[in-house]
Amino acid sequence: MSRGEVIVVGGGLAGLASAAALAQAGYSVHVLERREGVALETSFANGGLLTPSMPHPWNIPGVWRRLLKWLGREDAPMLLRPGAIGGYVGWGWRFLYASSPRGYRLATEANFRLCDYSLRCLQRWRRDLSLEYAVSTRGTLNVYRDRAEFDRALARVEALRPMGLTYAALDAAAAARLEPLLDGVRGSIVGAIHYPADETGDAHLFCRALKERLLERGVRISERTTVRSLRIAAGRVAAVETAGGLIAGSQVVVAAGPWSTALLDRHGVRLHVRPVKGYSLSIPIPGVAPALRPQLALLDDSLHAVMTPLGDTLRLAGTAEFSGWDRTLRTARLEALWKLPAALTPALLRVVDRASARGWCGLRPVSADGRPYIGASAIGGLWVNAGHGHLGWTQAAGSACLLAQLMSGAPAPIEPEPYSPQLAQRARASRNSRAGAAARVEQHS
Ligand SMILES: Cc1cc2nc3c(=O)[nH]c(=O)nc-3n(C[C@H](O)[C@H](O)[C@H](O)COP(=O)(O)OP(=O)(O)OC[C@H]3O[C@@H](n4cnc5c(N)ncnc54)[C@H](O)[C@@H]3O)c2cc1C
Repeated sequence: MSRGEVIVVGGGLAGLASAAALAQAGYSVHVLERREGVALETSFANGGLLTPSMPHPWNIPGVWRRLLKWLGREDAPMLLRPGAIGGYVGWGWRFLYASSPRGYRLATEANFRLCDYSLRCLQRWRRDLSLEYAVSTRGTLNVYRDRAEFDRALARVEALRPMGLTYAALDAAAAARLEPLLDGVRGSIVGAIHYPADETGDAHLFCRALKERLLERGVRISERTTVRSLRIAAGRVAAVETAGGLIAGSQVVVAAGPWSTALLDRHGVRLHVRPVKGYSLSIPIPGVAPALRPQLALLDDSLHAVMTPLGDTLRLAGTAEFSGWDRTLRTARLEALWKLPAALTPALLRVVDRASARGWCGLRPVSADGRPYIGASAIGGLWVNAGHGHLGWTQAAGSACLLAQLMSGAPAPIEPEPYSPQLAQRARASRNSRAGAAARVEQHS
């Protein structure tokens, strides 16, 4: 028997995953997506990483120094365009405020819990729903060419070991044994970290496969359907308004990526989420010999970039551009993505057809405190699943399962407060965590 109907606004990773988890929990689900297909926005051509190993938010302590250093540099890993600063003012203060060591730690821990849970949910779905999306379970390999940066990364991940993160620190020779393509550049590598539990996969393929399964299970998906506004009556959501008219619904999930803020703002539901542009290149490699293909995803923090094999496609992705809603595909930013294979896998670079690479950019929905918004808003029946930033693929399944548990009143699998859309609860999670940290310090002293 159905638990009732839920309208999900948005057919990207967050929306489709929400639909899957809610359908599984017994709801009748109707997804409304404004584009002509699913996952055509930010979920279209991302880096393909499913990485509990990278739960760290971007507002690392001292982030402002990096932003200033890179200001105006077209090939910078993180670029703030002066013309766009106006759109980031209030959000920017919060972003910098959350870059305190404590804020950074809280977000990292909250993200790790969600990423870790999410991967387990995704593995279950992959098995139960027979989803195919060019998945690889060989882990990811983060390569360092700077000693200080390698040491800092080791300290960062060591702090997560007690929470369950597994990793292996490798020297250059061991890294090259794991990824033979690195053999030619061993001399420039100071170390690497292998995360065996990470996975990779094509998010767009996943969304398309999931859509098919959802349709088979009776979920309705209406494409070319833009939600213009929400109708609220007596403190409860009553309907959504589309070009085709009102669709009544007493339970609505807003999972519209960076566009969620505009839909919710006018009803006093404030998400501190802004778009941050990222770029990718998809390079067909069917003709490339297996010996020249990467065995697993390679990351380089100094370039803020990743190279991920996704079946017969090689995906280069990364960089962060604070340029508001601007969707211009800038050649210099795309060109910067080639730096990673040039530095780490020159042998591969020599055989790929650079002219065949398809460039793309997408707007990550980045929250100021580095944590997504998942759960109930202050308006009855109005739920949120948005703001996953650079972790939206990794966290999609887990966020959706958490949301479905909250909606159905089942015990939450992980502590939900750090992700609450209600700012008081979110803040309380931070205070409790501080109290918890103080208690831990006392116990140890
Ligand atoms: C370059 C790049 C690389 C990335 N790499 C990774 C990675 O390796 N690993 C990882 O975990 N994450 C990665 N991410 C982040 C991840 O892709 C995003 O967090 C995720 O795609 C966000 O999904 P979403 O469903 O919230 O948003 P979207 O995919 O943007 O979906 C929102 C949907 O809502 C629809 N919509 C909006 N407004 C309305 C409306 N009013 N009515 C109806 N529909 C509406 C949109 O059309 C869209 O389809 C990357 C992002 C980028 C840009």
